[in-house]
Amino acid sequence: MKSSAEVVVVGGGCMGASVAYHLARLGVTDVVLVERETLLGTGSTGRNAGGVRHQFSNEANIKLSIESIGLLEHFADEVGHPVDFHQDGYLFLLSAPASVETFTRNVALQRGLGVDVQWLDARDAAQLAPGLATDGVLAATFCQRDGIADPNGVTMGFAKTAQALGVTVERDVEVTGITVAAGRVSAVETSRGTIDTRIVVNAAGPYARQIARMAGAEAPVDPIRRHIFIAAGPGSARLEHVPSSHIMVIDFETTFYFHREGAGLLFGMGDPHETPTFDTTVQWDFLPQVIDVAVTRLPALADASISHAWAGLYEMSPDGNPIVGAAAGVEGLYLINGFSGHGFQHSPAAGRILADVITGRDPKFDLTPFAAGRFAAPVSGAASGERYVV
Ligand SMILES: Cc1cc2nc3c(=O)[nH]c(=O)nc-3n(C[C@H](O)[C@H](O)[C@H](O)COP(=O)(O)OP(=O)(O)OC[C@H]3O[C@@H](n4cnc5c(N)ncnc54)[C@H](O)[C@@H]3O)c2cc1C
Repeated sequence: MKSSAEVVVVGGGCMGASVAYHLARLGVTDVVLVERETLLGTGSTGRNAGGVRHQFSNEANIKLSIESIGLLEHFADEVGHPVDFHQDGYLFLLSAPASVETFTRNVALQRGLGVDVQWLDARDAAQLAPGLATDGVLAATFCQRDGIADPNGVTMGFAKTAQALGVTVERDVEVTGITVAAGRVSAVETSRGTIDTRIVVNAAGPYARQIARMAGAEAPVDPIRRHIFIAAGPGSARLEHVPSSHIMVIDFETTFYFHREGAGLLFGMGDPHETPTFDTTVQWDFLPQVIDVAVTRLPALADASISHAWAGLYEMSPDGNPIVGAAAGVEGLYLINGFSGHGFQHSPAAGRILADVITGRDPKFDLTPFAAGRFAAPVSGAASGERYVV
């Protein structure tokens, strides 16, 4: 393994791969990406639902989406590897007057930034998603350019091109410590030796807090378990009476969501009782609670079988917004953490922005809402975190 590098990236999920790719594109190729698992993208990245949307409540997140979706639409041309991306839209169902009010403000914000979001009534929503029951739905919003992309394809696309440009990827190597001398990062300790470096990128997803603390810094990120279930038709046949497109439907009040996945259906729902944990064991006793809600929106699920399920970790920040930029108090340590359940879709833009910051370029992005120090000493612009955490 290399004993020194200009930059060490800790973590080979979508964030680490994106930062490495964007650094390499800027000519910084003396980079070592360190991943403790045998394969890249097996952390949160490998367990996510693939959802990509413009529909956020926070202006900075909408801007991350605009840039990221732009790159996903041209991924093969720009990054050099094809990626699956179905832009069949995101449909948000609203059943509470307060949600309609909130969405009214946020649709105006999204449209002001150039995003084409439509208001639909319950009947139009049902037509877009055959099989959907819209009882109690007061209104819905839809953006056609939202969709479902392949997290593995995006992560591997970034990683392969970064490697082709000269970046070193070390798998099966765990970062065990970060040495700081005179307030500045000087080396990364790993299970296979020391790498001298002056720049470390913490891209460790739900483990961000642990990595930051190795350097004596803070990354306020909590791991929160989220489940995904896959439904199949009787005898594993194609599931009928559900949308045949890849439209993502989100019942905003309950956070129940679903989209077509092959012959079956992928669905999930947040559990408000989850507390921070690194345990990704599937809690099967949560399934009946999800089904109770699910069948009210998608009656076909009553006859479906559950073919499999998995759990992964959201990397929650205190306000639902990510933390991107220099860490407070330790020179040379950079954070790209706390994406709070929507990091996959923001990895293209977030990686570009952090690579610009590291290389001293103007990222052309107001990073105030994402500043690492905002929780210790709130700054203006940081007050409104993200409200659409599903
Ligand atoms: C169930 C679920 C559904 C989701 N759905 C969506 C969605 O629809 N759309 C969306 O945009 N996002 C979604 N997300 C969120 C998204 O998956 C994450 O925001 C994103 O994957 C974070 O990427 P990351 O690279 O920061 O983290 P990770 O993918 O977790 O990568 C971090 C890597 O760091 C490595 N690592 C940690 N510690 C060390 C160490 N000491 N040494 C070396 N390596 C280390 C880990 O092994 C891991 O590979 C979902 C998440 C879950 C759990």
